[in-house]
This record gives sequence, structure tokens and C-alpha cells, in this order.
Amino acid sequence: MSRTPPELLCPTCGKGTYQSFTRAKKGARTQRRLRDMRLRPYRCPDRHGWHLTSEPTPKRPKKEINAQ
Ligand SMILES: [Zn+2]
Repeated sequence: MSRTPPELLCPTCGKGTYQSFTRAKKGARTQRRLRDMRLRPYRCPDRHGWHLTSEPTPKRPKKEINAQ
């Protein structure tokens, strides 16, 4: 089974960048399996794609994420 590594490094954040929310979600799932880390995708503030963060999920409805 292949992992889903980030494809790029974000020049702004220096983090691994996924090109879509779906890929970021897959990456988060992989990390959870490998390292027991709960990560969630968030959109790069500079719009380079999606990153993963281990910060707790803010209390917002999921709709907002999908609406972007
Ligand atoms: Zn970024």
C-alpha cells in the first residue's frame, strides 16, 4: 500500500501541501494509522493548497469547510 505523502512544500508555511481536501484527508488518515496522530486538513492561509494540523477541530459545522 502506498502512502500519501505531501506533494509540495508550501513556500509560506513550510509545510507539506496537498492539492485537494480529499488528498489531505487521506494523508491525515495515514498519519493516524502510522503515528496515532489525529490530524485535520485546513486550507493554507496563502492558498497554496491544504495542510494538516494536529490542533483540535474548531467547533464549526462541517458545511463551512466544504463551502470554501
Ligand atoms: Zn501554506
